[in-house]
Amino acid sequence: MPLQPSHDCPLCPRLVSFRTKWRKEAPDWHNAPVPSFGPEDAELLIIGLAPGLQGANRTGRPFTGDWAGDLLYATLLDFGFAKGVYDERPDDGLQLVRARIVNAVRCVPPENKPTGPEINTCRKFLIDEFDTLPKVKAMVLLGRIAHDSTLKTLGVKATDAKFGHGAEHQVGKIRLFDSYHCSRYNTNTGRLTNEMFRAVFSAVRSYLG
Ligand code: SF4
Repeated sequence: MPLQPSHDCPLCPRLVSFRTKWRKEAPDWHNAPVPSFGPEDAELLIIGLAPGLQGANRTGRPFTGDWAGDLLYATLLDFGFAKGVYDERPDDGLQLVRARIVNAVRCVPPENKPTGPEINTCRKFLIDEFDTLPKVKAMVLLGRIAHDSTLKTLGVKATDAKFGHGAEHQVGKIRLFDSYHCSRYNTNTGRLTNEMFRAVFSAVRSYLG
């Protein structure tokens, strides 16, 4: 089983301070590192940036409870990577199928912006996901930070696999699929449309069969 950070992981002081503040302001929220979600025999690993303040940081499940999750889970359901009903709650019974979701940074950062040292520090948990999931053949990298942290984890030079929406890279037996992050900001500004996002998962579905 991949290593998960403890509820009170102390490794990033700025993020510890931020979640301590939110534990006081919203004591019924999760306000802790968000564990990965999905079966350990997943063939597809989806890598996001970090919990959203009122999304995963509130509910405790990746991408659950905010706009990014609405788009991601609707797309996963459409392409058969999830079953059940997504109802914005960790107890909605939704199950991932052949897929698992993890964030590059497990604690919510102020303004959705983790620092370089925080990304580097939290990579130990991403490395352990990669080392202990034996069947992963494909990864969807949501945004540049997820892309860059994944390349570092896999030991690939940035110049050998440039980030771009819809770009694909083969690294050993793993196929990487890049996508702009499915954040509300990206969809509101038109940087990412539903069709663009679906095209990435259509390519993944074709690749995995
Ligand atoms: S971001 Fe990761 S390493 Fe940093 S405190 Fe949270 S769980 Fe620990």
